[in-house]
Amino acid sequence: MSSQPFYGSDYDALAAFDPDIAGVLLSELARIRGGLQLIASENLSSPAVLTALGSTLSNKYAEGYPGRRYYGGCSEVDKAENIAIERAKALFGADHANVQPHSGASANQAVYGAFLKPGETILAMSLPHGGHLTHGTKVSFSGKWFNAVHYGVDKETEDIDYAQVEALAKEHRPKVILAGGSAIPRLIDFEFFRRVADEIGAIFWVDAAHFIGLVAGGAIPSPVPHADVVSFTTHKVLRGPRSGAIVCKAEHATAIDKAVFPMMQGGPQMHTVAAKAVNFKECATPEYAAYAKQVIANARTLATSLAEHGIRPTTGGTDTHLSLHDLQGVGVTGKDAEARADAAGIVLNKNAIPFDPAPPSIASGIRVGTPCVTTQGMGTAEMVKIAELMATAITKGDADPDHEVSRKVRAEVTDLVTRYPAYPRP
Ligand SMILES: *Cc1c(COP(=O)(O)O)cnc(C)c1O
Repeated sequence: MSSQPFYGSDYDALAAFDPDIAGVLLSELARIRGGLQLIASENLSSPAVLTALGSTLSNKYAEGYPGRRYYGGCSEVDKAENIAIERAKALFGADHANVQPHSGASANQAVYGAFLKPGETILAMSLPHGGHLTHGTKVSFSGKWFNAVHYGVDKETEDIDYAQVEALAKEHRPKVILAGGSAIPRLIDFEFFRRVADEIGAIFWVDAAHFIGLVAGGAIPSPVPHADVVSFTTHKVLRGPRSGAIVCKAEHATAIDKAVFPMMQGGPQMHTVAAKAVNFKECATPEYAAYAKQVIANARTLATSLAEHGIRPTTGGTDTHLSLHDLQGVGVTGKDAEARADAAGIVLNKNAIPFDPAPPSIASGIRVGTPCVTTQGMGTAEMVKIAELMATAITKGDADPDHEVSRKVRAEVTDLVTRYPAYPRP
């Protein structure tokens, strides 16, 4: 570890200077290795990505864009950003890419900045039906500064209510129509949104934060040919560094670039830009394409197997990496399910389900996703097992880690993660 060709990622030096933080780095790795990570928005990025993140590129001020910086000394970081941009354009078949957003929320802020003035109207999916905080909720800048109108899901199908999207678009004539969210298990009909946007002359924006990795791997249809602009995170299924990016049509390139910098951000995080470039290269490999397909196969099996234990998936299943489950049939709250699973070594999150009678802090559902366990090499047979363990922990278990059921399930979780370790030792 200590003989590196560059200064960075030197654990021994950190441990010698700051054992407190070095200890946290190790105990967090042990936590990841010790349990099943089923949080749908998380993944395990590669050592290559982590190496770029832990590099001296973190030091460089590079306000502006390659070849047009406000600082000297940018020759090397320019190379990294140009590589990241070219790889993003190739990976997604996009006219233009901006790789500077610090996160998914920052990317979204820039899209608002590019297309909307304060007070103007956006049509987006409501948070309790699967949207996102940045899609016009009252606690976010997006709902404080813009007029957000929300569509939801149909009560019967629990999938997007497309008739409502069209009716609200015609009634409110929003400047921007937004598709995407954080708890949408099904594919989104991008052609439909495009047609509605064209009919009222609106910009069509897709927030692909959750599913962009499945697009990169060619496992689901891409929004890029249909949308004016697509924002996304790079750390979810995509498996890159914690960050964001935007791709768009050529006609919006200048507006997007100006909105990211200088409107919303200062200097880009060049170590993260470099790590995004590494990730885009990984995503262009056949191994990643196979991974993306397996993520979906695993999510489908996990959802179906949970259904067999009485833990009903909303919409009847999933087409993506995540499923949302209604726990009312087994008489357990989302809050209790999260705590019981956690005590058994299974990390997931409680989640509101559409038309949830419980408040968000309790919730009637859970959201589960397969990006991490698939990265660890698990397949559909392991998903059947995980569903069984989850059902036991949720319906018979306890929030106390010393409870008999917690111990029993945890022993089986340990067996699984020993056979399919996260960050296997070389
Ligand atoms: C995760 C997510 C975001 C926000 O990403 P951050 O990097 O946490 O800011 C935005 N939109 C959607 C749909 C998301 O799922």
